[in-house]
Amino acid sequence: MNGDAYSHGLWEASAPAAPVTGPLQEQDLRVDIAVIGAGFTGLSTALHAAEGGASVAVLEAQQVGFGGSGRNVGLVNAGMWVMPDALPQELGEAYGTRLRKCLGDAPSLVFALVDRHGMDCQAVPRGTLHCAVGQQGLRDITERHRQWLVHGAPVELLDARAVAAATGTTAYTGGLLDRRAGTIQPLAYARGLAHAAVKAGAKLYTHSCVTEVRDEASHWALRTAHGSVQARWVFVATDAYTGALWPQLQEEQIRLPYFNMATAPLSDAQRARILPGLQGVWDTPDVLSSFRYDRQGRLVFGSVGALRGAGMGIHRNWGRRALNKLFPELASTPFEYEWYGQIGMTSNALPRLHELGRQVFSFSGYNGRGIAPGTAFGRELAGLALGQRRVEDLPLPVTPSVTARFKGLREMGYEAGAQLVHATQARL
Ligand SMILES: Cc1cc2nc3c(=O)[nH]c(=O)nc-3n(C[C@H](O)[C@H](O)[C@H](O)COP(=O)(O)OP(=O)(O)OC[C@H]3O[C@@H](n4cnc5c(N)ncnc54)[C@H](O)[C@@H]3O)c2cc1C
Repeated sequence: MNGDAYSHGLWEASAPAAPVTGPLQEQDLRVDIAVIGAGFTGLSTALHAAEGGASVAVLEAQQVGFGGSGRNVGLVNAGMWVMPDALPQELGEAYGTRLRKCLGDAPSLVFALVDRHGMDCQAVPRGTLHCAVGQQGLRDITERHRQWLVHGAPVELLDARAVAAATGTTAYTGGLLDRRAGTIQPLAYARGLAHAAVKAGAKLYTHSCVTEVRDEASHWALRTAHGSVQARWVFVATDAYTGALWPQLQEEQIRLPYFNMATAPLSDAQRARILPGLQGVWDTPDVLSSFRYDRQGRLVFGSVGALRGAGMGIHRNWGRRALNKLFPELASTPFEYEWYGQIGMTSNALPRLHELGRQVFSFSGYNGRGIAPGTAFGRELAGLALGQRRVEDLPLPVTPSVTARFKGLREMGYEAGAQLVHATQARL
């Protein structure tokens, strides 16, 4: 996107067009709600608010899906990294239970929206497989399985043989199949949300970076390079792509780079052996990897790291070696696309809800789990502005933003750690 071949790769090459949009030119455009950022969170907010009868303007600095929403793996997960039972421990019983339910239900919200609005975004609601590496990984998914079962989730623990049949590799000691989850083409989903929001009446402006948000007592005044908006509510949905406007959001996240490489389409025979059930896969190591198909039968294979500078060659070579080791029959299958983005991590691996001013709220810090949660939280923000929810009914408590300790060092550490692992290890 914007002339960068490594920004959105396969997703940009295969997504249907976004709605036709341009920069905000109006002065003092009056709306009920201004949304900053056109990713899953902002677009879901806009769609649900417009459907509820509010007037909405979405202001996006670049293009729809420019941030994490257009670059990610496309795993529509149910839940967070943290164990389901850790949520009440971390947030208290009321919020923990509410968040767990909200996250568990969130994939079905995504797939229902895709159906309802006829979005062409390669939605495959066939579950995800969390694959265990070694005994430590197996203990982790076994405990996750136990906890989700208690809460009635449709999860299944696969032994090494079953996970080998499900994935086509013997690399894993077990797998957790979560039938609530699935995969989508993420940029196509973001663009689908944008079309639906515009159809519902939201105004969407791209290349419209918000540079100032001023409190005018009766409303907020937002300024972009060529226009301005007056709004009663402001929702900030800029996550790991937050710029200088809200430094506190930027400072509380540690940005973790993650890249994807997409192969040429596999043959029918290869697809019958490798991941025949079309689930999305990710594994248990800290420097994790993931893979899934797109509609053309390309395998999208990813891991931690940025495709730039010294990391470019290291991660790319690892990708080749790792794929060959997982699936030796793909040794001569070329990679045709590669891209990367940044994930916003928080200190407790949970997203944050902040009140940045009177009727100014943000959700951010998805820790690599923003598709379903961002969609669900967007609906919650719309409900707040429509008067259907109170702040205390939202799935997270409002907390102050806290600057991450040693942010720069930890960001360098993620990339250096991934380079070290990828340089020294073929895989497993
Ligand atoms: C490589 C990668 C892999 C991932 N894999 C997964 C996955 O498999 N499953 C999953 O659930 N999640 C995944 N994630 C996380 C997920 O993509 C994000 O959590 C999610 O996209 C966040 O959505 P958002 O709408 O909150 O923010 P974003 O999609 O990041 O959008 C923020 C937008 O705000 C805009 N913006 C910033 N400042 C301004 C401003 N001042 N004015 C106007 N606009 C502004 C940006 O241009 C950007 O478009 C992954 C992320 C990455 C990067």
